[in-house]
Amino acid sequence: VPRANGAERLSPRVYVISGPTAVGKGTIVERLRRIHPEIFVSCSATTRKPRPGEVDGVSYYFLDDAQFDELVISGGLLEWAGVHGDRYGTPREPVERALREGRPVILEIDLQGARQVRHSYPQAVEIFLAPPSWEELVHRLRGRGTENQDQQSRRLRTARHELDAEDEFDHVVVNREIGTTVREMVDLMRL
Ligand code: 5GP
Repeated sequence: VPRANGAERLSPRVYVISGPTAVGKGTIVERLRRIHPEIFVSCSATTRKPRPGEVDGVSYYFLDDAQFDELVISGGLLEWAGVHGDRYGTPREPVERALREGRPVILEIDLQGARQVRHSYPQAVEIFLAPPSWEELVHRLRGRGTENQDQQSRRLRTARHELDAEDEFDHVVVNREIGTTVREMVDLMRL
């Protein structure tokens, strides 16, 4: 069925971007936001400790366990999951507000979160960002140097499983080169 005179474009859109550790999700999302400032990029809550340079309320809302529990219990999270030993979740209210304002919304979340969003927003477009190869992913994670040896191994174990799940997604984009990836994303998000 052809898309009717762009009517769908006016309905609020939710995009989920998932993919293994260090594949470049953060960089791609940042570029998209710069090109299309109307996009609302959800800021997640996490119990993970900030990395050097990360700013509270910008990179994440950094919470302790009790604060995170409170959000879960009060229904303040759209979805949440345990990832690499920490908890991460999407604050509900800002996303709902952005959708009311008609802005496209990006959720950069893990595979378990993506599965939950499929239930709350069946119309969500889910994009899996994949590395060119396993070797390249390992190389990028080591090059980032923000995790110790144990954390790296743990992230790579999770990544193995995540790569097996790419078929669940509406689109798979291989992140070879940032510029190309961003153009592909803009196309498939109909921005
Ligand atoms: P990082 O610690 O590298 O910033 O993120 C680790 C993982 O948590 C990534 O796969 C990222 O997509 C995921 N993540 C970040 N925020 C959320 C969230 O709000 N919900 C879920 N389910 N996963 C998240």
